Amino acid sequence: MRYFIGNWKMFGIPKSLSILNRINKYYSKDKNRNKYKVIITPPYTLIESYSRHFRNKRISIGSQNCYQKEQFSSNTAAISPYMLKSVGAKYTLVGHSDNRGEGDSDSMLKDKVRYAIKNNLKVVFCIGENKKEKKNKKTLIVLKRQLRNVLEKKFNKNNIIVAYEPIWSIGTGKIPTANELKKTTIHIKKVLNGIFKKTSPAVLYGGSVDGSNIGMFKEIREIDGFLIGGASKTSKKFIDIIKNYYR
Ligand code: PEP
Repeated sequence: MRYFIGNWKMFGIPKSLSILNRINKYYSKDKNRNKYKVIITPPYTLIESYSRHFRNKRISIGSQNCYQKEQFSSNTAAISPYMLKSVGAKYTLVGHSDNRGEGDSDSMLKDKVRYAIKNNLKVVFCIGENKKEKKNKKTLIVLKRQLRNVLEKKFNKNNIIVAYEPIWSIGTGKIPTANELKKTTIHIKKVLNGIFKKTSPAVLYGGSVDGSNIGMFKEIREIDGFLIGGASKTSKKFIDIIKNYYR
């Protein structure tokens, strides 16, 4: 199974649903549709209405984050996994570099993963090195630490998808070379095999993926799919990625 996950970040109002309707139309008729899953993470404000709209359709709706407490608490503006599940979310991102940059620590991320899974949300756990770590050849060490500090066997690999997103690549148009990416993805799967005892969750790549560079990524068979930011905000760009992947 391959994954194409669109992360809308701070984008979208109710009428932006038309973008997803066009993607869903393509997805429903695509002869390759059973080979992949499309998941979109709109902002919190749209999760309930979009989840209801797509309840019996192919696209799944997820959240971009969740709070590290399970149900209700006194944390202003926080949204828990329980609340997300109650409005129809099926997935949640955890550990996006935007949120790590705003203070999400490994112990907070562990609680987010734990409570998300407890509330039947599948977790897309994001990891990635920054520019300085890459320059100092620390990528593999950083990724191993990020995985080992948060993931545990008891979470069950079927509840987890890992998204490798080098921070220097997000929104910049810069992407790793095919060799680098293959080596990094194999390393991530090796670390995950260690955590989950000889089996690995799906591992995605994210960072400046678009219809013109997807051809390079598809050659790396170890990559199980993509987390797509900028190019998920228009139906044409998102559909082009899928079309060119299966071309
Ligand atoms: C992201 O923010 O998760 C992302 C991958 O963004 P972009 O595709 O725009 O680089």
